[in-house]
Amino acid sequence: MVGDSHKHQGMRKKLVDQLRRKGIQDERVLAALARVPRHLFLDPAFLEHAYEDKAFRIGAGQTISQPYTVAYQSSLLELKPAMKVLEIGTGSGYQASILAEMGAKVFSIERHRSLFDEAKERLRMLGYSKVKTFFGDGFLGQPSFAPYDRILITAAAPEIPRLLLEQLAVGGFLVLPLDSDGGQTMVRLTKSPGGEFMREDFENFRFVPMLKGKVF
Ligand code: SAH
Repeated sequence: MVGDSHKHQGMRKKLVDQLRRKGIQDERVLAALARVPRHLFLDPAFLEHAYEDKAFRIGAGQTISQPYTVAYQSSLLELKPAMKVLEIGTGSGYQASILAEMGAKVFSIERHRSLFDEAKERLRMLGYSKVKTFFGDGFLGQPSFAPYDRILITAAAPEIPRLLLEQLAVGGFLVLPLDSDGGQTMVRLTKSPGGEFMREDFENFRFVPMLKGKVF
């Protein structure tokens, strides 16, 4: 891959070992993190730090999530090959690339025009051109391609977005960091055939907020 090197591959391997020690067990998730060149999703100012388990600023006041968070959310999706996944919050495009590496058909929405344009171009450059990106408000989802087997929100949701629940396939999961006291709780909702939802709560995290509307 253009811009990747043995040195960076080595750094990724160390990061993956670290994530394994922190409790990430899904080998397909870890393999995807070992393949995607995270340093090419960051501002060159952070290049030396690309493989630290940290979040970084990506412009427009947003961040690329910490690798642990990306691995954690990706594991909760329990992806099977060729599943349709809708991501809310494309940001840098890193999480979308991880899902694409895992064989998902990825649809991703970003509300900031500048981030959307950059991520779209980056995904194309890195060969993830099958990822479909949309400039829009993730609270509305993307009904034209629904239903989705999985929906992943990568920003802190103030509430569970009702339209996203409607766009979820039966048996599908919605994974989201939901606002709770002093942070967000990672929540997974599973849609039952009767249209009810089973809720599971996981660890607490910190995300940038999920906001309504588009920013031009
Ligand atoms: N998944 C990203 C991390 C993104 S940070 C990555 O891998 O880099 C969260 C992103 O969600 C930000 O880019 C923010 O602009 C976006 N966002 C917040 N609210 C949104 C909404 N309603 N619709 C779409 N994107 C949203």
